[in-house]
Amino acid sequence: MNIYENSVKENKNFVIWGCGRYLRGVIDKISPDISITYIVDVDKHKWGGVLATYSGKELKCQSPDILPRLKNTVVMVAVQSTELYKSIKNDIKKIWDGEVIHINEAVKAYLPEYEKKQIALYDEAMSSVEEPGDMDKIICYADIAVPVETCNLRCQYCYVGRNNDLYEREVVYHSPQFVRRAFSRKRIGGTAFINLCGMGETLLCEELPDIIRELLYEGHYIEVVTNALISKSIKQILEFNMNDRIIFKCSFHYAELKRRNLLEKYVENIQMIKEHGASLTIELVPHDELIPYIDEIKSFSMENFGALPHVSVSRDETKKNIPLFSKLSEEEFEKTWGVFNSSMFDYKMKTLKKQTEYCIAGRGSFIMNLDNGEAVFCCKNDRFTNIYKNIDKPIEYQEIGYGCKSPWCINAHAYLTLGMVDKVNEHTYLEMRDRECTDGSHWIQERMAGMMRQRICDNLKSHKY
Ligand code: SF4
Repeated sequence: MNIYENSVKENKNFVIWGCGRYLRGVIDKISPDISITYIVDVDKHKWGGVLATYSGKELKCQSPDILPRLKNTVVMVAVQSTELYKSIKNDIKKIWDGEVIHINEAVKAYLPEYEKKQIALYDEAMSSVEEPGDMDKIICYADIAVPVETCNLRCQYCYVGRNNDLYEREVVYHSPQFVRRAFSRKRIGGTAFINLCGMGETLLCEELPDIIRELLYEGHYIEVVTNALISKSIKQILEFNMNDRIIFKCSFHYAELKRRNLLEKYVENIQMIKEHGASLTIELVPHDELIPYIDEIKSFSMENFGALPHVSVSRDETKKNIPLFSKLSEEEFEKTWGVFNSSMFDYKMKTLKKQTEYCIAGRGSFIMNLDNGEAVFCCKNDRFTNIYKNIDKPIEYQEIGYGCKSPWCINAHAYLTLGMVDKVNEHTYLEMRDRECTDGSHWIQERMAGMMRQRICDNLKSHKY
């Protein structure tokens, strides 16, 4: 029995520390039967305000100064960063000698019960809803951010691997059955193309293969962004045997793979994906460190993948003008990496104008956090709904229209090719991902290719919803 369970048994009171976004995301997932007496926060601007409703009761934020007076109480810290949790716990211990736990202990204890109720509501509401037809017609591009922020590599151009401890987060995942219902075809209104991507290595999320299995059973198309080294998870996913609806987007970190003697393993896994009939695409992150290796990368790729990798464009998205991550000028950069003849690279390099036409992001696409369901229109735009709220009701879509705040459509190679802007119809997503190999085979398999040629704006026009 852990501290939380023991404390509930002993009828202790609970105080929540932290009135931020994390608390708002988890407050519904705490048992309504425990006694939460206060919420405290160090931010004095929050004191006196109602920051959460729990079990029908408004909880006002207070100063942590009340803590030393409290007896028979446990403090639950509501923050996501593991680092921050540790430091808050140390600070609390300086002023108080009671038990301090992470709020996720309470969430984990109640989540099965919470989900059971939500699933029962969903099953009842959806039993009378007709299953949408045309399984192969996609009406939504859902980008799911997997809360993995650590990596098994340490690429020179990436902060994640080198700061693994810094990014560690306290995460509670919903069950695959809950996620499947939140993303059901009935609720979405048809089939989705779902891209799963972590900030670190996506497949380090051990819960992910089971979630992918449920989403595949539901009938969706799945794309997994990976460095293609977590062989066990790749194999597990391939063994679900729904490989005509799965693509592995394999990032090719050539210098790091070479440094760690992992090139052979990478190639083996690419072969495994191909042999199982799944689609794949290989994507090189262009970085100055790789320039001396360009010829070597080209011949390695022709020999082992039957084609050159596609090339992405890495930019510093923390800076206002989003400059290239390179010492080269735009022109030199284009010339240097253009030798890979990648349609994705060419399109990303030329699509740098602010998008002023009507965009259906928020209906035709969204980005959602896998752990808490919060959804934004797209990467540079605001939050508009929570997909996990009221799963018994349809998703509250909201088209962004002319309200795009992004300086340009940063992921145009996906959003624009998949038809978020009706008036922009230049390329297909298939062109961004496929290569024909020297033996005449393709990286993208037939059924997946059929999906990747579609434009969601066109599909929605003829869609009964
Ligand atoms: S960035 Fe692209 S997808 Fe997002 S709102 Fe703007 S035009 Fe639409």
